[in-house]
Amino acid sequence: MARGKQTELVHGGTKRSQWGEVSEAIFLTQGFVYDSAEAAEARFKKTGPDEFIYARYGNPTVAMFEERMALLEGAEDGFACASGMAAVNGALCSMLKAGDHVVSARALFGSCLYILEEVLTRYGVEVTFVDGGDLAAWEAAIRPETKAVFFESMSNPTLRLVDIAAVAGLAHAQGALVVVDNVFSTPVYSKAIEQGADLVVYSTTKHVDGQGRCLGGIILGSREHIRGVVEPYMKHTGGSMSPFNAWVMLKGLETLGLRVRAQTETAVKIAEALQGHPKLAQMIYPGHPDHPDHALAQAQLGAGGTMIALDLKGGKEAAFRFLNALEVVIISNNLGDAKSIVTHPGTTTHSRLTPEQREQLGISEGLVRLSVGIEDPADLIADLMGALEAV
Ligand SMILES: *Cc1c(COP(=O)(O)O)cnc(C)c1O
Repeated sequence: MARGKQTELVHGGTKRSQWGEVSEAIFLTQGFVYDSAEAAEARFKKTGPDEFIYARYGNPTVAMFEERMALLEGAEDGFACASGMAAVNGALCSMLKAGDHVVSARALFGSCLYILEEVLTRYGVEVTFVDGGDLAAWEAAIRPETKAVFFESMSNPTLRLVDIAAVAGLAHAQGALVVVDNVFSTPVYSKAIEQGADLVVYSTTKHVDGQGRCLGGIILGSREHIRGVVEPYMKHTGGSMSPFNAWVMLKGLETLGLRVRAQTETAVKIAEALQGHPKLAQMIYPGHPDHPDHALAQAQLGAGGTMIALDLKGGKEAAFRFLNALEVVIISNNLGDAKSIVTHPGTTTHSRLTPEQREQLGISEGLVRLSVGIEDPADLIADLMGALEAV
């Protein structure tokens, strides 16, 4: 019987040793001992799901994490990676070669943009960028030699959504695979595989750890593609997840649903409290009816997520005063954490872009990104209101 997501988050993929431990064991070992030379030979010829050779290829703790994530996402399989960027790089580079074409949404996390703009093109892959919300632009850009389309399902930091099912329809009509960076949507709300994504990529550094400890990432998809295309690339190029980080992520998954739902409920309250505030040019939250993609967020995720963007009147100076006046919310560039975090993208995460590129993406001088944590909602609202007063 298919179990619910919350049950899988707690129990999915668990493999117990002969000791019957309650909490998942950390197999902090890079290698494995064979009973005989013949057994070593046999294992190198063909390994089963519970047979391991070397931690870069696979490890029992990492395998538990991969299985739990796959169950949560509704994917057949997954390969855990050292970071979100190892996952994005692995998902794309493992399947592409010189002469291939990729279509990508323009609104991307800086390091994702680097892979598409600098790395892939260096190896002869042509990349076309489109406005992720413009289906006619996707249709015009995708052509027979297009091997992959790539986008963040909810963009950073402007929180615009891409219609996964619609873009997947266009991509599949030309035989291209759909690779979705799903960090802002979170695996709690994601139905990306069902909606047509072929590969779903997460930085598990964000909501999955959710407590600011470890880097991690994962590529999820069909067993054939993960084991046949992704695994050979990842295990030979060295981007595998460490067993210790996999253990931290497994413990993070147990509470992921509780945290993300609490963060979302608080985000809704904050959005209501801040909407129309005189110091704000705009309050951007996909869960608020005023958001241009509100209906799509409801259909695609059934929720508005844990992120809010605030565009302050008065540009950078106002944004900096706001950040510096906060007492509960901390200034950092992580997101999805139990602690509420603010970032000024223009001078940090997106400072590599030119002012024109930032303007094109809607990243104004006054834009502040807020990752909502699990603190008392009333304290967060009071902190945000007080800091706006100080502007
Ligand atoms: C953070 C992030 C990444 C990169 O993840 P790391 O774990 O930091 O390597 C990729 N995509 C998005 C949308 C992110 O937010």
